[in-house]
Amino acid sequence: MSALLEAIDLVGGYGPVRVLHGLSFDVQPGEVVVILGANGAGKTTTLRALSGLLDDVKGSVKIEGEDVLGLRPDQIVRLGVAHVPQGRGTITDLTVEENLRLGAYVRRDADVQQDIEHWYSVFPRLGERREQPAGSMSGGEQQMLAIARALMSKPKLVLLDEPSLGLAPLVTRELFTRLGEINRTTGTAMLVVEQNANLALELAHRGYVLETGQIVAGGSASELKSDETVRKAYLGY
Ligand code: ATP
Repeated sequence: MSALLEAIDLVGGYGPVRVLHGLSFDVQPGEVVVILGANGAGKTTTLRALSGLLDDVKGSVKIEGEDVLGLRPDQIVRLGVAHVPQGRGTITDLTVEENLRLGAYVRRDADVQQDIEHWYSVFPRLGERREQPAGSMSGGEQQMLAIARALMSKPKLVLLDEPSLGLAPLVTRELFTRLGEINRTTGTAMLVVEQNANLALELAHRGYVLETGQIVAGGSASELKSDETVRKAYLGY
């Protein structure tokens, strides 16, 4: 069986600025995989390369065996990969419900409203605020909205770029608990880029360490947690 997502020898960046130096990794169906790395290691750039947002990239990206490098972002969403960008990317002037509806733009089925109600039951604060502009909500609520909006496309894989950024520790913990529940109940795979390595390795099944555009370590979450170099550099003990 082919991987859900496979990146092979990605090289790319922004014009003369080379950020990705030949990295390869994969995500299997239903898996939560974390990419750890310091500021500027290339985590955001990697996710952008996967979802068709990076023009200057070579190598290969496969979704269920199909080569997708060069496809537009909306074509990647249609193939089942949704991106929750750093800073959330919710449309602040639109209501919560309008944002969720936007997440379903690739769908043609009749179950969109039913799914919106489902995500309101998973994230009750979104349901309570369905008529409010997204921009009026707290950072944590906006992050939940961004995640629910991505899930509205019924993805096989969600790319999450620093979901904890700017959130209080308790809110972050609640968010990660929800992500774990969503993974277990829906089987949606997740590729998470995260500075909070301790929390990310609690959620993830497997992980990679990215340094200056290259994968320098990889293994199961428990292997990474017990690796001395990873512990010292990313886990703080
Ligand atoms: P962070 O945690 O700070 O977001 P990151 O690991 O996600 O870091 P990237 O955002 O992928 O790192 O950035 C990797 C490198 O690419 C950095 O040196 C950054 O300055 C550079 N970079 C990012 N975006 C651009 C851009 N649009 N143009 C030029 N260089 C960029």
